[in-house]
Amino acid sequence: MRIQERAAQFTAANQVRQLGIYPYFRPIDSDQDTEVIINNHRVLMLGSNNYLGLTNHPEVKSAAKAAIDRYGSGCAGSRFLNGTLRIHIELEEELADFVHKEAALLYSTGFQVNQGVISTLVGRDGAVVIDRTDHASIIDGCRLAFGRTVKFEHSDIDALERVLKSLNSLTPFIVIDGVFSMEGDIAPLPDIVRLAGQYNADVMVDDAHSIGVLGPNGEGTAAHFGLTEGVGLIMGTFSKSLASIGGFIAGDAAVIDFLKHHSRALIFSASPAPASVASVQAALKIIKREPERRAKLWANTRRLWNNLKSAGISYGRSQTPIVPILIGDDLDTFRVCAHLQEEGVFVNPVVSPAVGPGEALIRLAIMATHTFDQIDYAVEKIKLVLKKLGIQSKG
Ligand code: PMP
Repeated sequence: MRIQERAAQFTAANQVRQLGIYPYFRPIDSDQDTEVIINNHRVLMLGSNNYLGLTNHPEVKSAAKAAIDRYGSGCAGSRFLNGTLRIHIELEEELADFVHKEAALLYSTGFQVNQGVISTLVGRDGAVVIDRTDHASIIDGCRLAFGRTVKFEHSDIDALERVLKSLNSLTPFIVIDGVFSMEGDIAPLPDIVRLAGQYNADVMVDDAHSIGVLGPNGEGTAAHFGLTEGVGLIMGTFSKSLASIGGFIAGDAAVIDFLKHHSRALIFSASPAPASVASVQAALKIIKREPERRAKLWANTRRLWNNLKSAGISYGRSQTPIVPILIGDDLDTFRVCAHLQEEGVFVNPVVSPAVGPGEALIRLAIMATHTFDQIDYAVEKIKLVLKKLGIQSKG
């Protein structure tokens, strides 16, 4: 099929546009904060992954500006050749120390970390074992790996054990989201690490939504459970709590060195820009210095849960600042988003394939910098819109 034909067959987006409820690529004309400007209107932002509210912190912004002044706007090459700056190495050391691992390696996005690490580490004698609801970047890493991929039902430990038993001579590599990005539940890591020990499996945890959120100091899921030793590789992104863009993998020094010399997503892609790196360094400093931000994030999360519960609105299996409201039908979900935006609240729709068919949801995400008043206002508006549309949250 020619590409024009393929494109012409895609009509779903236009159908939703014609209904006036198209929810994607909404242009924002302000900074990413608890309130944003859309179409000249101030809208409460309840769909950002800026969990600690650091994208507008003066220290983060001035670190980015200073890095541009010193190093320029880009590195014009990959880490492997001409694109390594002193601050890349500094940040790698800071991150390794933060998540209690020997070494770390930066990539230009979190997506590239998963793609580049899994595809490199799983050879023909291996099998990647993944939770069915793992992030798309993990799935793509599996697609590029030479080994087999086997999925188990979401957080189902018996299913995981059945898979591990069935692998025979293949070496298992278990890769899971620490916090699941759509429904906000935490992986049952203690059971996973126990099975990994029993079946000689390596474990990698995607901490995109856990860094800055879980753990005694915001170090992520492994630290939250006191299981840092049992998790060989910790992956993180900079596009959420760390207020920038990029990602990292942390683990044993020898494994990181192997990746440095084999991972194609690293070697054949330009290194993170100086401003991005310096922003992460500043954000990390603030995370370590101000644990009260994480405390406020959790207080806000509890406020949202309690308000939703009082309003009779289910928030699924949320255990974190990611709070889903299960709607079911895709178009209903888009309608809820559009009406909420009219009422001054920005939320994200999540439809298949990010969740199963018929399991569409709106995804709320809390920031440490939200006020209780903002959260109360949002829940009132959610209640109002669901009532107006005659939609009941499921679950
Ligand atoms: N893993 C998870 C669980 C994510 O949610 C995301 C981002 N949505 C990524 C990886 C990719 O991170 P990045 O935005 O840095 O590419």
